[in-house]
Amino acid sequence: MRQIDHFIGGGSLASGERSGDVFNPSAGEVQANVRLGTAADLQKAVDAANAALPGWAATNPQRRARVMFNFKALVEKNMEELAATLASEHGKVIADAKGDIQRGLEVIEFACGIPHALKGEYTQGAGPGIDVYSMRQPLGVCVGITPFNFPAMIPMWMFGVAIACGNAFILKPSERDPSVPVRLAELMTEAGLPDGILNVVHGDKEMVDAILDHPDVKAVSFVGSSDIAQYIYSRGTANGKRVQAFGGAKNHGIVMPDADLDQVVSDLTGAAFGSAGERCMALPVVVPVGEKTANDLRAKLIPAIEALRVGVSTDPEAHYGPVVNEAHKNRVEDWIQTCVDEGGELVVDGRGFTLQGHEKGYFVGPTLFDHVKPSFRSYQEEIFGPVLQIVRAADFNEAVRLPSEHQYGNGVAIFTRNGHAAREFAARVNVGMVGVNVPIPVPVAYHTFGGWKRSGFGDTNQHGMEGVKFWTKVKTVTARWPDGGVGDGGNAFIIPTMG
Ligand code: NAD
Repeated sequence: MRQIDHFIGGGSLASGERSGDVFNPSAGEVQANVRLGTAADLQKAVDAANAALPGWAATNPQRRARVMFNFKALVEKNMEELAATLASEHGKVIADAKGDIQRGLEVIEFACGIPHALKGEYTQGAGPGIDVYSMRQPLGVCVGITPFNFPAMIPMWMFGVAIACGNAFILKPSERDPSVPVRLAELMTEAGLPDGILNVVHGDKEMVDAILDHPDVKAVSFVGSSDIAQYIYSRGTANGKRVQAFGGAKNHGIVMPDADLDQVVSDLTGAAFGSAGERCMALPVVVPVGEKTANDLRAKLIPAIEALRVGVSTDPEAHYGPVVNEAHKNRVEDWIQTCVDEGGELVVDGRGFTLQGHEKGYFVGPTLFDHVKPSFRSYQEEIFGPVLQIVRAADFNEAVRLPSEHQYGNGVAIFTRNGHAAREFAARVNVGMVGVNVPIPVPVAYHTFGGWKRSGFGDTNQHGMEGVKFWTKVKTVTARWPDGGVGDGGNAFIIPTMG
């Protein structure tokens, strides 16, 4: 059985008594074992990071950016291999795996411009003979803890910006699909990154707790489910660290009566079922406004959903592949039963789906519910599978209220031809990322990504200038260069003012 080891100080480290299974979800079998590390393994990564940190932090930003340029070229050169590995461990189809890598690379492209982003502010003559300037300095040893569903993009969101800012980084990827994160670290080394600046440690709660308690870890960025995000935020900040922790989601798509329903159906099937619904920016809830919109939409959705092709991750015709493992398949099917028990109308049932020749794979067929109510637990919680719920709204105000009052506030979309309605919606809705006729409004790399309410704990977003802020601390210098003449005669015991 293939072993997936830690990557520390520029090389692999086979350490750790415990290990976890890494599945091939299309085949429904174990394909590798990953080390589950301990506090002692983390210490080795921290030692490597601390040793490399002073040199990297002192390297000028332009040279740091050149490593990012080299890395981008190497990832592009290795795209096929990376996408195949990613798809085989996650289950998403190859084209979608390439999208996962590409969206991460876009953050690397942003990081290539880090010299510009790190420029500080300057005020000449803030007082008599006094200038004030600020600089952004790296934090030190930083950590990223990432989920299984974007094993390339989310690590790159974090380490791309953190490392370009001059930090050393330890990545703790999901133990369910850990191979691509290790490969990315190898490629960073090949790109010219000094050993010890990017390390990968594997593990579960034991490793995460060691990270949260380690005094040398200055900042933690987390993406995963909400309960864990809140835990990471609480324990990390209690230990004096800077923490941003992004959680789960239940994104709504509002369909106004004037929307182009054919376009909506095409957008919805992709956004609800793509990647088997395992995206934090998936659209698992659709809110048609008015009974006629709901009935027309439902009539168009049913044949579109029934035409979806579920296949193995290497099937180029498949719209989506299996879910990540058997436990998750069972959980999604349990949620479908819960929604039935709560009174939802099961219009298309994806349970019990088997793919000929791949009977052991973790497939769930596309599922559609109508007449779902806000009181249902299956509406309130994240299912994270290929399940779309129709929640009918009587009018625009109710449609704004549903996502605004939901416990999650990651993304939301409105489909309409009415600019005024879209503008009102974007201004009023209590959600962090909004799409107008865009079903998955993941912002581009030079803007920032982050949800509200239980979708995000902390106060800065991922990537863009918010990322630069998160991974640096500001130092402000107030400087006076006396000319040797008569002083200002001020009293040193009074708080200085510039007046
Ligand atoms: P998860 O919370 O199970 O795991 C995320 C990370 O936390 C992993 O590295 C895992 O090893 C670690 N972890 C798991 N249990 C832990 C525990 N008890 N203590 C400490 N650490 C623990 O999430 P997942 O299943 O890998 O990913 C799916 C979730 O991530 C979904 O809820 C999805 O919405 C969310 N997600 C959110 C965003 C976002 O930007 N808001 C993006 C992608 C995924």
